[in-house]
Amino acid sequence: MIHYYSTRDPHKTPVRFEDALLKGLAPDGGLYVPDTVPTVDPANWLNARSLPELAAGVLRRWLEPEIPLSTLEAILHDALDFPCPLVRLSDDLFVLELFHGPTLSFKDFAARTMARLMQHFLRERGERRIILVATSGDTGSAVADGFAGQDNIEVVLLYPLGKVSDVQERQLIVRRPGVRALAVKGSFDDCQRMVKEAFVDGELAHLPLSSANSINIGRLLPQALYYLWAVRQLAQHGLEPKRVNFCVPSGNLGNLTGGVLAALMGQPVHRFLAAHNANHFFPDFLAGKVEAYEFHPTIATVSNAMDVGSPSNFERLLHLLGPERMRAWFWGTTVSDEATLERMRQTHQAYGYLACPHTSVGLEAQARYRAETGDRTPLITLACAHPAKFPEAVSSALGIAAPKEGVLEALWKRETQVITIEPSLQALRQVLLG
Ligand SMILES: *Cc1c(COP(=O)(O)O)cnc(C)c1O
Repeated sequence: MIHYYSTRDPHKTPVRFEDALLKGLAPDGGLYVPDTVPTVDPANWLNARSLPELAAGVLRRWLEPEIPLSTLEAILHDALDFPCPLVRLSDDLFVLELFHGPTLSFKDFAARTMARLMQHFLRERGERRIILVATSGDTGSAVADGFAGQDNIEVVLLYPLGKVSDVQERQLIVRRPGVRALAVKGSFDDCQRMVKEAFVDGELAHLPLSSANSINIGRLLPQALYYLWAVRQLAQHGLEPKRVNFCVPSGNLGNLTGGVLAALMGQPVHRFLAAHNANHFFPDFLAGKVEAYEFHPTIATVSNAMDVGSPSNFERLLHLLGPERMRAWFWGTTVSDEATLERMRQTHQAYGYLACPHTSVGLEAQARYRAETGDRTPLITLACAHPAKFPEAVSSALGIAAPKEGVLEALWKRETQVITIEPSLQALRQVLLG
């Protein structure tokens, strides 16, 4: 059985998956990492007929016997019930579309799977949880949607009033069972501060508060799966699945960490490309320009889900791989907003393909990587969100309206529910205790 321990625990005290999942952050402030990464027979992904089948074949190596196989299969069929196609742009260039889930970003994979895994353990324990999330983008809607209707779990999400786009706000406030949306009269930092304060507040200590942020190990395992599903589809395109490069548009580095787990399980990955926007800590670190943890303040960009100055999964990657291996295996670059929109335009012109701003950062990064290295290993860029979520960026890059997307259109017909509150712990207390 695989155990987890905190990156900050010199004794590597073993913790079961169930506890790592329900805790999120380790009590010493570290991140949970597995004590071993199981190697998985590639037949598990190369022969899988569907993503849920692949997922069960791979995750049973991580989760049995804590979760019986039949339960795991049911969870994965229910969670991963949407397509994840690999689209070919040219001979050796692909995009993996991760935006066909209900909230149209790759966050759906992890949020939906994690919600069901948590629900399974909570039901067994006869416990419940209140998930608190501060959000400015895709995580909030994916968590709200993914966790809605799980009867042992309630979600309270905080977002900064007037600081998210209309589409984003709609995605957050549509009425969902077991979800309360709070519009905070303040900034994203206020929302995060209120959540942090709530976790250590004496008056709220009796509530079973929990989090679902990107450091939870329960989010990383599902994010390893689609890398393997991509390789499976590469084989269907007649390409040797023996060696592949992945380009990952990155912020908190959770998506990239999922890819690393897939590689450590046995899928050969030649290079990982870490594609960052103006928030350039990680490319700088890879280039040896800055030391570990020399983080910068966050810069706002058009690829706002990647606006992260201090990537939370950095500590985990460093622990798993060490700096030398990271610098040898990863290649990174920082892409300005101008270059992002220009790449969006070029991609549309060259391939008739419309990429969201985050995906465009990735496409620009892969073009630079190939120009610099001449490496023509088949390359897969992760397409992280649907372009229809970013109408302003699409129209400024291409001068056209973003495509209509049924899921988003339907949001405007749904009932909403939102409570506006002051940016104070007292206001959050009132909601939670009321
Ligand atoms: C969250 C997100 C990212 C960044 O992923 P990390 O795991 O934080 O590196 C990139 N693109 C989109 C669309 C996202 O929602």
